[in-house]
Amino acid sequence: MQERIIKIYRTTIGSQYYHYNCNKLAEDLNDLGVTAIMTPAYDETGPHYPSSFLKKSETPPYLPQLVKALKQYNIRTILTAPIFHDPQYFDAHPDRAPVDQLGNPFQPTDWYKPVCPSDREFRELRLRQLRELLRIMKPDGLSLDFIRFPLFWETLDYTQPGTAIPEFCFCSRCLKAFQITMHVALSDHESSAKAATQILQTFPTKWHEWKGRVIKSFVKKTFSLARQLSLETSPILHFIPLDGPAFPFDVQQRLGQRLAALSPEVDTIHPLLYHQVLQQSPGWVHQYIQYLAQTTHKHILPAIQAGRIYKPAELPLSEFLEVVHLALLPPSRGVAIFSYDLLCPSSHANPRESEGFQRLKALFSHTGRG
Ligand SMILES: [Zn+2]
Repeated sequence: MQERIIKIYRTTIGSQYYHYNCNKLAEDLNDLGVTAIMTPAYDETGPHYPSSFLKKSETPPYLPQLVKALKQYNIRTILTAPIFHDPQYFDAHPDRAPVDQLGNPFQPTDWYKPVCPSDREFRELRLRQLRELLRIMKPDGLSLDFIRFPLFWETLDYTQPGTAIPEFCFCSRCLKAFQITMHVALSDHESSAKAATQILQTFPTKWHEWKGRVIKSFVKKTFSLARQLSLETSPILHFIPLDGPAFPFDVQQRLGQRLAALSPEVDTIHPLLYHQVLQQSPGWVHQYIQYLAQTTHKHILPAIQAGRIYKPAELPLSEFLEVVHLALLPPSRGVAIFSYDLLCPSSHANPRESEGFQRLKALFSHTGRG
């Protein structure tokens, strides 16, 4: 059965219209015809479930109630866990910010506040948090977001060959761990910029292999945790689609998301095919799904954008619907739409009265719920 998923955020549930009324939201999502939702288990405000040790969010812990409301309609809940992105941790540890190849610590320009993936203390904290989350919530599925080295990819210009793409992380902890693990001696590891120059000129393959290992080891730990706690399906891996024929550079290895290395661990890959953000045509969405399925032999569950993200031009509704259709073509396992807020942008009007809602509902019912 193909999935029809919509991504729901705190801003949806806490909107003027829903105001934490989970039954009302579940009823509308059932009318839309979705099979599941994807929603963050926690965000910059804190956890949305009753955690015993994390600082409480200022909003009510609405997830248990939302899951229950959705179950009445057989709509499943896939909880998204942002991994190496944590605004609270980033703000509390300015000395641990990821460092780029010029030696500059990461400067947040918007909501994105990444954490260095080799930060052992953070990794342990995240695993403890995931263990508690799975134990309390027993979700229908878990998806791992930001499971990579940092990059704010949403605003880069992909039409410019040679666009300067920052690479992370050359912090002292990463430099030390790289040298020990890969048996490399850097001539100057006191300066991040000098070390980065030497690494990228002399040891690029080893460096990217090491980054892949740092990410893979966390993926493995999360998967074994999910097995221990009897999660029904293995976690879904979010993936930035900056590889393949459309892109003249290989960003994947800089992110530590090496498909060849990660594939044996993963069943389902969740590429974020935001075609307007990546300056691609609607047709690219289907081509990329085919490419990823052929390269990995894994289930591909794509995410697509329902509206404008960081671009001056609007995304026409007709183009969004065309992309939904293309994203559902085989070998895709379904589609996840980012997001309900983009589909129905008014925070106080009834979403069912929006054109986007009605036309997506018609498309879903036309293509069958399986
Ligand atoms: Zn680092």
